[in-house]
Amino acid sequence: MMRESNKPQLDVIVVGAGFAGLYLLHKFRQMGLSARAFEAGNDVGGTWYWNRYPGARCDIESIDYSFSFDPYLEQEWEWTEKYATQPEILRYAQHVAERFDLRRDISFGTRVDQAVWDEDRTCWTVTTDQGETVNGRFFIMATGCLSQPKDIDIPGVETYTGEIYRTHSWPHEGVDFSGKTVGIIGTGSSGIQSIPLIAEQAEHTTVFQRTANYSIPAGNGPIAPEKLAVKQRYQDYREEARWTSVGVPGKKAMDFALTVSEEERQQRYEDLWNTGAIPHLGSEFADLLLDEKANDTLAEFVRRKIRSVIEDSNVADILTPTEFPICTKRACLDTNYYQTFNKQNVDIVDIKADPITSITATGLATRDREFAFDAIVFATGFDAMTGALLAVDIRGCSGQSLKEKWAHGPLNYLGLTVSGFPNFFMITGPGSPSVLSNMILSIEQHVEWIADCLDHMDRENLTRIEATVTAETGWVDYGTATSDMTLFPQAKSWYMGANVPGKPRVCLPYVGGVDAYRRACNDVAAQDYLGFRLAGAGGARCNDGLVRRQQPDVVALLEMLAEMELPPFEAMSAEEARAMSVAMNAGNPPGPEVGEVVDGSYPGADGPVEYRLYRPDSPGPHPVTVYFHGGGWVLGDHMSDDALCRDLCANSGSIILSANYRHAPEAPFPAAVDDAFAALIWAAEHAETLGGITGELAVCGWSAGANLAAVVCQLARDAGGPEIRGQVLITPVVDGGDDRPSMTDNAEGFVLTRALMDWFWDHYADPAQRDDPRASPLLAGDLSGLPPALVITAEFDPLRDQGKAYAEALVAAGTDARHINYPGQIHTSFAAVGAIRTANGARQELASALRACFRVMEPA
Ligand code: FAD
Ligand code: NAP
Repeated sequence: MMRESNKPQLDVIVVGAGFAGLYLLHKFRQMGLSARAFEAGNDVGGTWYWNRYPGARCDIESIDYSFSFDPYLEQEWEWTEKYATQPEILRYAQHVAERFDLRRDISFGTRVDQAVWDEDRTCWTVTTDQGETVNGRFFIMATGCLSQPKDIDIPGVETYTGEIYRTHSWPHEGVDFSGKTVGIIGTGSSGIQSIPLIAEQAEHTTVFQRTANYSIPAGNGPIAPEKLAVKQRYQDYREEARWTSVGVPGKKAMDFALTVSEEERQQRYEDLWNTGAIPHLGSEFADLLLDEKANDTLAEFVRRKIRSVIEDSNVADILTPTEFPICTKRACLDTNYYQTFNKQNVDIVDIKADPITSITATGLATRDREFAFDAIVFATGFDAMTGALLAVDIRGCSGQSLKEKWAHGPLNYLGLTVSGFPNFFMITGPGSPSVLSNMILSIEQHVEWIADCLDHMDRENLTRIEATVTAETGWVDYGTATSDMTLFPQAKSWYMGANVPGKPRVCLPYVGGVDAYRRACNDVAAQDYLGFRLAGAGGARCNDGLVRRQQPDVVALLEMLAEMELPPFEAMSAEEARAMSVAMNAGNPPGPEVGEVVDGSYPGADGPVEYRLYRPDSPGPHPVTVYFHGGGWVLGDHMSDDALCRDLCANSGSIILSANYRHAPEAPFPAAVDDAFAALIWAAEHAETLGGITGELAVCGWSAGANLAAVVCQLARDAGGPEIRGQVLITPVVDGGDDRPSMTDNAEGFVLTRALMDWFWDHYADPAQRDDPRASPLLAGDLSGLPPALVITAEFDPLRDQGKAYAEALVAAGTDARHINYPGQIHTSFAAVGAIRTANGARQELASALRACFRVMEPA
């Protein structure tokens, strides 16, 4: 028992009284916990207390950008505009504080300077700039992602004799620019919102732009009746929002910008433009933030719109953004921004071309010019996401400071906690969706998760919680893998820490979406706080591990499939399963362009069989790879792995001849083998007519197709030809009697299940036939003298261990074979070109393996 004098004064210490701090106080009070907040400003509101520049508004519609935790609050508050102004949002924050009587637990005008973990007392000791020291069991930074202004990094500011304003800390009494010459530096959201209004008042305005931004018209005004009607079903609407990627209801993009017609694409962009909303801008199509070409279709649309507004083409050139993919910096919403530059008394200076060298006594100097101003406005942004956290000297176990711990980037678990810093939480911290979402929704999610956690600890009589290093490293790696799949790292943005000199370049927010993130947080809690070490009078426990073990796009795919609740293939007839497989394939992203695609047929073992041939876009002749599709010998055809065949063709420089074969149950074993071997012989004999090089022949296949590829290599060896230069086997089926650990460990949940594999075998071959090496090539008595092989397997595939066993058996028999197992991947990953981008490296490896086996090829 802790002695009464040693007991911390408070249950929870909160820093910040923006929306996050307010909700935390309310929540803890409801739970009967003692909590106190410290706020540097003199009132509540955070962002909306500080950022009072002209034109400041939200860019998420007010109906969405508001609290959902209290139905009465939700109903009684009436927003007056689609995008509320800063004064209105500040009034809302004040209303929340009053309604729930929160101010009595907030110390205003008080900055927290230091927080130190006291291991002996299991509490935090917090010191403020007012000389106060308090301690509390839990310490929560609700200090905001965009509250620490970036330092002015232009020399000479102190010499300037005119007026200086910063959008972040605008004078409460407002500023009258009438009759004044004004220089404005910065064209992010704050600049873009304020420039039109400042320019309306000032005698002359000069805007200094370093990077042109994408902005779309807000179309602000009264709230549309259909949007207002949402209030009649607000709670359902909010629940819908919680399970979207940005925290605002809208349709989930399932199709791709590059697959729809130009006409449809333009129409959909036009509709987006007219909606005046940015949350769904980057998610109109599933590939907009993944594929540069797709992104450019939207960027180009916005560029054309911008150009159509600006009268002077030189000015239009400066204002048209080209330097980064659209939506990889936060897109802006404006009212008459571009129109402002048609005014005679407004100039723009491209400071990429003519950089600012200093602020002078009377204005500023660029390399080539001098400017005099009555006032300079800095709209130069924030040390975002980590700035406010690191401005406090936070010291965890053994006195380690957060600054030291984050020297190379913000290590965190779920964006909520940090290992080595027990009982410490962050609201919308780095590693969470935060700034990529409707932030009030994300704040609510964090507050509620923490409240549930504290409640759990209380019930279990636990007093200490700390993230493990394993969980933290896993989450950071997962976040990096998620952002690396996207175009975000291409922008020099504050998301990437690129706006602050010396800041580590890492993607600060989690880019996988609010819905996926919420699921991960829920999973952690449901698994007895997976990845946390908990301790107290109730005992000590730790369910250590990673909340996400598959690659991020695999997780997204699995979550999407789970949501669709499709019936399992094995519950269907072969015909039904084929129809479903065709329907599922139809929405797949296309593979890359190749030189030519030709359809034809070859003489199979029992009559003509179709093929599709993919020719590289380079002068031939080329080597030939005979490819066999996947589908458990039951599903698929010569076109069903189209994207993979294109990818192999484009990257290997080989002709890919995708040969169909007869399928079970209509044509059971060994029909497929007979056709596959016939295809091989025919391709070898007709190489030249196909545009190939005689003798330069390889085989490749995926899954059951890889089974056929392995089998034809054995048949060709035994028949004395044709000669095969290499075999590339993608997650092959090689053993009909497999009962290795992966068959059990990955039996369910990863698309190819053990039950489905049984179903395929049951259609294909009688149990007695499965020992035949033509069905189970691993069981062949002799695996020597076979073509060099690359076998790739996936960690979460029931077939993983049999693929590995085949590669090992080949090596043991003296055949040149390599095996690569891809962590976090599933059976279908490698064929899912464009959808599972984390398998791009594996696909490159497949193509290089093909290249390497042909004598005529230069290494890639
Ligand atoms: P904040 O509102 O930033 O509050 C944090 C508070 O902590 C501040 O008041 C600060 O003074 C205080 N603080 C910080 N450090 C200390 C310390 N050491 N000691 C004491 N007090 C401290 N998000 C959207 O989703 N939609 C929008 O439309 C939108 N518009 C925005 C417009 C602007 C101009 C800006 C800057 C941001 C905008 N954001 C928007 C993001 C916005 O920050 C969040 O929506 C939300 O208001 C954040 O609330 P918060 O309580 O987490 O942090
Ligand atoms: P910002 O987006 O970071 O923009 C800062 C601007 O200043 C950029 O144009 C930047 O140029 C420029 N800049 C910075 N340092 C400079 C220097 N030394 N010399 C010249 N130019 C310099 O900051 P922000 O506009 O304050 O917005 C930050 C975020 O707050 C937004 O992205 C958004 O999330 C939120 N916000 C939202 C709204 C809203 O509409 N509701 C309004 C304001 C802010 P570079 O691009 O070249 O770095």
